[in-house]
Amino acid sequence: MTIADNLNIVRQAVDVAQKDTPVKLVAVSKTFPEEAIWEAYQAGQRIFGENYVQEGVRKIQYFRDAQPQAEFEWHFIGPLQSNKSRLVAEHFDWVQSIDRLKIARRLSEQRPSSMPALNVLIEVNIDDEETKSGVAPDDLLAIVKEVAVLPNLKLRGLMCIPSAQADEAQSRAAFAQMKSLFEFCRKEGFDFDTLSMGMSADFALAIDQGATMVRVGSAIFGARDYSNR
Ligand SMILES: *Cc1c(COP(=O)(O)O)cnc(C)c1O
Repeated sequence: MTIADNLNIVRQAVDVAQKDTPVKLVAVSKTFPEEAIWEAYQAGQRIFGENYVQEGVRKIQYFRDAQPQAEFEWHFIGPLQSNKSRLVAEHFDWVQSIDRLKIARRLSEQRPSSMPALNVLIEVNIDDEETKSGVAPDDLLAIVKEVAVLPNLKLRGLMCIPSAQADEAQSRAAFAQMKSLFEFCRKEGFDFDTLSMGMSADFALAIDQGATMVRVGSAIFGARDYSNR
């Protein structure tokens, strides 16, 4: 199976699962080399997600030089430390993992004026796991209000990474809760169009529960080998 074959299978599954709103597919390319990304690009994929700052920036710069005509959309989806926010603000198109106001403020301050506003999502800690990042559902509205007014960011919605241990019923419940938080924010007047949830194992379930964006890695690129990092 090639990357193009895998992409076709994932796209077909997304097509089957989606209802009236088209669902965006983010190809999560962390740990995979530039050649794998280019193979996916040539098969029509444009949106890529990266988790690690240095690795992501290296790839963005590589393609800026090697394929200046290419139209990539780069999403940062990993945990972000404040000392690395500038690199992210200067290179990525989206940041999906905003989990505190301080990071959002830094990204807004550090976004170059020559670039369009940085699209951002707030990461919600939907399973309330102490070890995991993300904003607690009870704190969400307060941070949404503050991030929405930052000048160089465009707050587009919410993302979550439910517990990897969750069974199907637990994942469905977590996705449904995300959907209601998303609708709640919209009722509060926030112009959200993106609910990012669902990965290789559960993207169809996430779409069924209202995801507008899914982040799929291993189902497209194969198993990850972290020793390459
Ligand atoms: C790695 C990762 C993914 C993709 O995971 P797969 O199970 O390989 O599809 C999606 N979202 C985030 C935040 C990730 O870190």
